[in-house]
Amino acid sequence: SNEEAVSASTKYFKGDTLAATVFINKYALKDSEGNIYESTPDEMHKRIASEIARVEAKYTNPMTESEIFDLIKNFTYIIPQGSPMTGIGNPYQIASLSNCFVIGNKGESDSYGGIMKIDQEQVQLMKRRGGVGHDLSHIRPKGSGVKNSALTSTGLVPFMERYSNSTREVAQDGRRGALMLSVSINHPDSEGFIDAKLEQGKITGANVSVRIDDDFMRSVRDKKSYTQKYPIFSSKPAFSKDIQAHDLWKKIVHNAWKSAEPGILFWDTIINESLPDCYADLGYKTVSTNPCGEIPLCPYDSCRLLAINLFSYVENPFTKEASFNFELFKKHVQIAQRMMDDIIDLELEKIDTILMKIDQDPEEEEVKHIERNLWLEIRKKAGEGRRTGVGITAEGDMLAALGIRYGSEEGNAFAVNIHKTLALAAYRSSVDMAKERGAFAIFDAKREENNPFMQRLKEADPALYNDMLEYGRRNIALLTIAPTGSTSLLSQTTSGIEPVFMPVYKRRRKVNPNDKDVRIDFIDEVGDSWEEYVVFHHKFKQWMEVNGIDSSKNFSNEEIDELITQSPYNKATSNDVDWLSKVEMQGAIQKWVDHSISVTINIPNDATEELVDKLYMKAWEVGCKGVTVYRDGSRAGVLLANDKKE
Ligand code: UDP
Repeated sequence: SNEEAVSASTKYFKGDTLAATVFINKYALKDSEGNIYESTPDEMHKRIASEIARVEAKYTNPMTESEIFDLIKNFTYIIPQGSPMTGIGNPYQIASLSNCFVIGNKGESDSYGGIMKIDQEQVQLMKRRGGVGHDLSHIRPKGSGVKNSALTSTGLVPFMERYSNSTREVAQDGRRGALMLSVSINHPDSEGFIDAKLEQGKITGANVSVRIDDDFMRSVRDKKSYTQKYPIFSSKPAFSKDIQAHDLWKKIVHNAWKSAEPGILFWDTIINESLPDCYADLGYKTVSTNPCGEIPLCPYDSCRLLAINLFSYVENPFTKEASFNFELFKKHVQIAQRMMDDIIDLELEKIDTILMKIDQDPEEEEVKHIERNLWLEIRKKAGEGRRTGVGITAEGDMLAALGIRYGSEEGNAFAVNIHKTLALAAYRSSVDMAKERGAFAIFDAKREENNPFMQRLKEADPALYNDMLEYGRRNIALLTIAPTGSTSLLSQTTSGIEPVFMPVYKRRRKVNPNDKDVRIDFIDEVGDSWEEYVVFHHKFKQWMEVNGIDSSKNFSNEEIDELITQSPYNKATSNDVDWLSKVEMQGAIQKWVDHSISVTINIPNDATEELVDKLYMKAWEVGCKGVTVYRDGSRAGVLLANDKKE
C-alpha cells in the first residue's frame, strides 16, 4: 500500500518524509491501478542498472549491472533525473525518457491547422511525461490581414492562453505538464506577449521567455530605435514597426521585477555558441527551449537529463583537510556520459513501443496521423544527434564542504574549474565512444571549426580536439545545468549551481492540545495550536556533526544565528550572495556548458527595478544564455525550486 511504501522509503531516507513522498509519488514503479512495486530507491536503481547494463552488453568493454548500480545507488554520484528515473524499464507506463522537447512548424506557416497541430503535439508529449517548449514568432501579428472571414488576425497572445490551458489539462502522475512559450523581441506582438501574464489568473500553465538579440541590446544601451518585423528578420517583411528599444526593455524589467517573468533568452549568444546550429540546414536550427530554459532545441529534438552530485567528491567534508577528488570526478563524468548514450538507445526502444501502441490504438487513422508523425520525427532526431544533458547538482554544498564561500572570487574560480573539467571529461568520453560505437550520424568537423565553444575545447585540450577530428564524437551536444528540483530533494543537497536557500528554518506542526507532552509554541487566529521545530539543511547538519554540535538540542533564534555565522554557509545563501557576482559566475560557467544553465538570481523584496536592469545588462555582457530574477515575495503560490523546503 501507499502508506507501507512511504514508511519503508522514509526509513531509507532516515526520516526525511519529504524525500520519501517525492520518491513514492513521482518515481517508484506503479501500475495504472496505483499498486506500488518499489518501496525504496534501491529497487528503482536496480531496475535502471539492469536496463543500462542490457544496452552496455551490445558494445565493447561493457559495464556490469553491479558496477552501474554502485554508481547510481543512494543518489551519491550519478543521478538519472525525472523522466529516465520513472521511465527506464517501466512496463506499466509507456513514458518517454526525455525530460525536454521542443516542437514547431516547418517554415514560417501560421495557418490555424498548423497552430492546432502544435496544440495536439504538445498534449501528446506531455502525456508521455515530457516538458515541452515552442516558439510563437511564426504567428502573424495582431491586426495583419488574413484571407478568411475574420479579415484581420488576433495576433499571438490569444494562442498563449490556448497552449497554457492544454498544458493544465494533462495530468502526469503526481505532477502537471510543463510548458515554455517563447517569442522573438523582433516580433511586433512581443510587447503583448511580455504583458500577457500580468493579469492575475492568465496563462498560468506556461513559462514565458523573450528571445532577445544583440542588436536589440545595443539599441537599449545606446537608446536607439529598433525595427520589429513580420516575418521576423525578413529582408522584405510584410509588416514592420519602429519602436524605442529602451521603452520595451523597461517594460521587460518592470514585469520581471513585479512577477519574475518574462525570462530572458540572449538569443545570439545561444545560437552563436550552439554546436547543433552548425547543422541548421539539416534541421537543427534552435528555435526555443524546454520549460526551465536549460536546453535550447530545434523542433522535434529531445533531451534526457542526468546530474552528478558534486558534494560526493569532497573528501573530508567540512574539515580543514577537505579536498575535491578530481580524478574520481573525471572518471565518473566519463561514465555518466556513456550511461546517457546508453539511455538514448533505451529511448529509441521506448519510441518504438509508443509507435506500436499508436498502431494498435483503435482510433481513426486521420486522428492518429499527427501523433505518429510526431514520434517518427522525434525518433529521427534522437537517433541522428544523440543529444545528452549531463549536468550537476549540489554546487553550493560542494563549496561549503570545501570551506569556500559561495559568491566569493575564490568560489567562482573553483566553480569554473569544476565545469571546465566536466566539459573536457564528457567530450573525451563522447570522442572515445565514437571510436567504439561510431560518431553521431551527421558529424562534420568542418562545420564546427569556427564555433566558439569548440574553439575553447580545442585550446584547452588539443589532443582531445585532434582525436575528435579523427574519430568524431558520439553526441551532437552534451552538457547542461538543470534546476534539479526533485533530484536535489532525493540527494538531500542544494540544487544545481544554486547556493543554499536557508541553512536553518522553522517549520510548524499542528498539535492536539489535549495530548500529553506536547509543546505549544503558539495558537493561531482560528484557535489551532502549533509546535515550532527547527529544520536543518542536510549538509548543514553534517557540518554540525563534524564539528561536534548536537543538532537535537533546542536552539533559540539567537543561537541559530550564531551557528550560521560560524558555518561555511555564512553570507552564502540565495538571499545574501552578491547578485552581480552570481551573474558573473553564471557567465563564466556558461563558457563550459554547451547547452544552457537554469539559475535564479534571488533579490530582496525591496530591490529596485534599476537593480534588475543592471543584472540583466550584466548577464548579457558576461555571456549568459538566459537570466531569471526572482524578487522575494513577488509571486504568490509559485513553486520555485527553493520553495521545496516549505
Ligand atoms: N520538467 C517538467 N515538469 C516538471 C519538472 C521538470 O517537464 O514538473 C522538465 C523540464 O523540462 C525541466 C526539466 O525537466 O526543465 C528539468 O527540471 P528539474 O531539473 O527540476 O528536474 P527534476 O529534478 O525534477 O528531475
